[in-house]
Amino acid sequence: MTILDGKKLSDKIKTQIKHETQLLKQQGITPGLAVILVGEDEASKVYVGMKEKACQASGIYSKVYKFPQTISQDELLNTINQINNDDTIDGLLVQLPLPPHINTTEILQAIDPSKDVDGFHPYNVGRLVAGLDSFAPCTPLGVMELFKEYGIDVKGQDACVVGASNIVGKPMQALLLNEFATVDICHIYTKNLAEHTKRADIVIVGVGKINLITADMVKDGAIVVDIGINKTKDGKLVGDVDFKNVSKKASFITPVPGGVGPMTIAMLLKNTIKAAKLHLK
Ligand code: NAD
Repeated sequence: MTILDGKKLSDKIKTQIKHETQLLKQQGITPGLAVILVGEDEASKVYVGMKEKACQASGIYSKVYKFPQTISQDELLNTINQINNDDTIDGLLVQLPLPPHINTTEILQAIDPSKDVDGFHPYNVGRLVAGLDSFAPCTPLGVMELFKEYGIDVKGQDACVVGASNIVGKPMQALLLNEFATVDICHIYTKNLAEHTKRADIVIVGVGKINLITADMVKDGAIVVDIGINKTKDGKLVGDVDFKNVSKKASFITPVPGGVGPMTIAMLLKNTIKAAKLHLK
C-alpha cells in the first residue's frame, strides 16, 4: 500500500510556484489573489487564513475583504465588481458558505470568469464539462495532480465518486471523464452505495460523514481518495474513510490530514498563477 502524500506534493508545487512568481515579478507582474470572507464562521476563517499564508510564502500578493454577516447582496456585488476591475488582482474567490440571505449563485456569477480561480462560475463549469481549458475547482484538481505524481493513469479505469456537490463531486466526475475513466457518481439518494464502491478501481469520497466507507465496501487493490473533513468528539481531524481498515486492502490511499487538503491550497496558488499569465497575455 502506498500513501498518496498530499503534504509532500503540495510542498513541491509551492516551491515551483514561488519560482514562477519570481519569474513573473521579473517581468513586472506580481500575481494577486483577493478573498472575500463574510461572517464569523470559524472553519471559513481558518481556510482563509491558510490561503493568505500560502500566498505570502509564495510571493503572491493577497488581499482579504472581510464583511459582517449582515452585508447586503448589493454591497457584495459592488465589491466583486470593484475587484473585477482591479488590475492588481488576478484571482478572486468568495469563501463559502455565504449567509442564507445572500444569493450565492448570483454572487458566483458576478465574478469575472478570467479571475475565477475556484472554478465555480458557470462559464468555467461549462468549459470543464466540454473538455476545454478552464479554471477547474481546486479540490478535485488536486486529486488529479496526486494521480499524476504517483503515475496513476485513470484511463479505462472504473471510478466511483461518492458525493455529488458542485464544488467536489461533480467537477471530480468531469475531470475523470476528461481523462477517459468510466465514472459512476453516488449521492445521498443512491440505493446501495456498497454495490457501486465495490466495483470500482478508484473510489473517491467527499461527503462529510465519518467512516462512511468501510473495508467491506472496497475491492482489494483499490485506489482510495478521501476528500472528507470531519472533526471527532475529541477534536481530531478525520475523513470519510475508515483509514485503519481500508488501507489494509487499498493499493494507494490518501490520509486525512495530509492528503487532499494541502493539495487544494496548492491548486489555488496554481490557478492564481494561471490567471496572472492569462492577464499578462
Ligand atoms: P456537500 O454537503 O455540499 O455535499 C455532500 C454530498 O454528499 C452531496 O452530494 C450528498 O448527496 C452526498 N451524501 C450525503 N450523505 C451521503 C451518503 N450517506 N452516501 C452518499 N452520498 C452522500 O459537501 P461538500 O462541500 O461537497 O463537502 C464534502 C466533504 O468534503 C466535507 O467533509 C468537506 O469538509 C470536504 N471538503 C474537503 C476539501 C478539501 O480540501 N479536502 C474541500 C472541500 C470540501
